[in-house]
Amino acid sequence: MRAEGEIAGAIDKARGASGNGETALARAKATHWTIEDSEELYRINGWGDPYFSINAAGHVTVSPRGDRGGSLSLYELVDALKQRNLNLPLLLRFPDILEDRIERLNACFAKAIARYNYPGYYRGVYPVKCNQHRHLLEDLVRFGQPHQFGLEAGSKPELLIALASLNTPNALLICNGYKDREYIETAILARRLGKIPIIVIEQLEEVQLVIEASRKLGVEPIVGVRAKLSTKGVGRWGGSTGDRAKFGLTVPEILQAVDELREAELLSSLQLLHFHIGSQISAIGAIKDAIREASQIYVELAKLGANMNYLDVGGGLGVDYDGSKTNFYASKNYNMQNYANDIVAEVKEACTERNLPVPTLVSESGRAIASHQAVLVFDVLSCSDVPTGAEEPASEGEHLIIRNLWETCQSISVENYQEAFHDATQFKDEAISLFNFGYVSLTQRAKAERLYWACCEKILAIARQQEYVPDDLEDLEKIMASIYYVNLSVFQSAPDSWAIDQLFPIMPIHRLNEEPTCRATLADLTCDSDGKIDQFIDLRGEIKSVLELHPFKQGEPYYLAIFLSGAYQEIMGSLHNLFGDTNAVHIKMTPTGYQIEHVVKGDTMTEVLSYVQYDAEDLIESVRKQSEQALQEKRITLQESRRLMQNYEQSLRRYTYLSST
Ligand SMILES: *Cc1c(COP(=O)(O)O)cnc(C)c1O
Repeated sequence: MRAEGEIAGAIDKARGASGNGETALARAKATHWTIEDSEELYRINGWGDPYFSINAAGHVTVSPRGDRGGSLSLYELVDALKQRNLNLPLLLRFPDILEDRIERLNACFAKAIARYNYPGYYRGVYPVKCNQHRHLLEDLVRFGQPHQFGLEAGSKPELLIALASLNTPNALLICNGYKDREYIETAILARRLGKIPIIVIEQLEEVQLVIEASRKLGVEPIVGVRAKLSTKGVGRWGGSTGDRAKFGLTVPEILQAVDELREAELLSSLQLLHFHIGSQISAIGAIKDAIREASQIYVELAKLGANMNYLDVGGGLGVDYDGSKTNFYASKNYNMQNYANDIVAEVKEACTERNLPVPTLVSESGRAIASHQAVLVFDVLSCSDVPTGAEEPASEGEHLIIRNLWETCQSISVENYQEAFHDATQFKDEAISLFNFGYVSLTQRAKAERLYWACCEKILAIARQQEYVPDDLEDLEKIMASIYYVNLSVFQSAPDSWAIDQLFPIMPIHRLNEEPTCRATLADLTCDSDGKIDQFIDLRGEIKSVLELHPFKQGEPYYLAIFLSGAYQEIMGSLHNLFGDTNAVHIKMTPTGYQIEHVVKGDTMTEVLSYVQYDAEDLIESVRKQSEQALQEKRITLQESRRLMQNYEQSLRRYTYLSST
């Protein structure tokens, strides 16, 4: 047992330790937090350039036209939209960003073509599956017109969209995906409408379907083949290539397709070679290898007598979600210009060596075009902190386990914090075992837990100041994180974050001149424990398990946003717990500010219920009858019943998300 003096000394030592934990620099920052600190923390210059940055008021700003001028505060925009009764969560789409992406992609290819004296053209297409929404697609076709930018369809419904929407002369209509007779006939007949549909054979059976359809219709098709390259794809979609890939023909199958077409006297219609090695290719090396292999297949096909004219390099152009410019899966170690240069240079070399004319180059970039234009803004509803610890001195008569925890807590220092964490955890576990066997009372258990949290707080404060955090302490951040409850369904708005652990940049859109002193994970509105976000981008292509956020003040709005979410998320989103589509707004810059081009209202409850075959009128009728019955039996007052029906009917007309007003 320690003497009084020793305990006092221990307290001083412990105070000193927590004082050490907070370095002078950190203390200075706490009082002089600047927007530069926020920029660094959230890496916004890495992933946001040139569209997103922070202004002097500490708001995230968007510059939809990139370097070409004009910007606005997202915070002020959201406020203005709320005043128009457009509630959160709110999907903001910026068509100017879409235009800028298309301009950039085409400019990069134009530059590469000039640099390597490539005697041919680039004709990009946009893969419709990436984001099919009408306003977006119509904008995209219009923005693409100066570049003869086309569309790629991966299914019959997408073909229907593409056929109706694409009216750009000379733009390509690439027809991918599984095809039946109807698909193929429709695509072939599109030639009669002046389109350039290219039917890409993905399965050997499709060759005969094309031959039959072309004979029947008396129209010669333009045909492509999709090759299964042996080049290994990388990352999440690495399986898109190789012999066991879902799509495409192996080299022997390509040769068989050539034979079948030759026999049908249609070999001249084979004009395109396509490959797709997966999405979000993070390493330029993989792209180069694929182009090299595909270029060789291309020249061989030309030698075999096919009328080769196009080389379609598919999608895969990556997006730097964490801004680290590395080959980490949420990043990419190359830029758009490197990508275009490598494609142009490799293809030119392969063709020149064999004395062949170069093909028109086609790429199917989806993610790189559609991601940046969408920002999802949502609000925090409440926040739960970890139980705060308390260093209540343990008196001599106290249970040994509590005295042990108290002493551990007192002795924590930079020298022993790792060991102290083990001790504290062990004592806390013991306290719970003792409780389960009836040796420790509920009050004693509560005291033990409070002491444990106090230990964790002290240890974490020290650990955060260290250059390297020992592995066994990494979980401590998670244990000590607050939970911010957000007005959003991960399943609806960021499904890839749930399904494939994709990282998106997430940050507050205001208060960025204030230090974010809380560390938190996000929990969504669904009753599913998977409905959370607990992985965030970090420095140098790493992942952190908590996000720095500002203390939540009840009654004051706190807005966060998920950025770079314009590709794939919207259509893959699902109605888990019947949270529907969010409100979406298209914001276009004007010479004097901005204008709301389109408002696409999110689902009402009536709408989501109809997706699962409920009729709102029937539902109202059922509740009305029950309430009538209750009235008869005097279980409810007339007033209560009126209130119930009013709420019920109003809810049906409302947004599925929570209203903060
Ligand atoms: C999905 C897909 C694309 C788009 O890929 P991104 O990585 O989004 O550019 C292009 N082509 C094909 C065949 C696809 O399946």
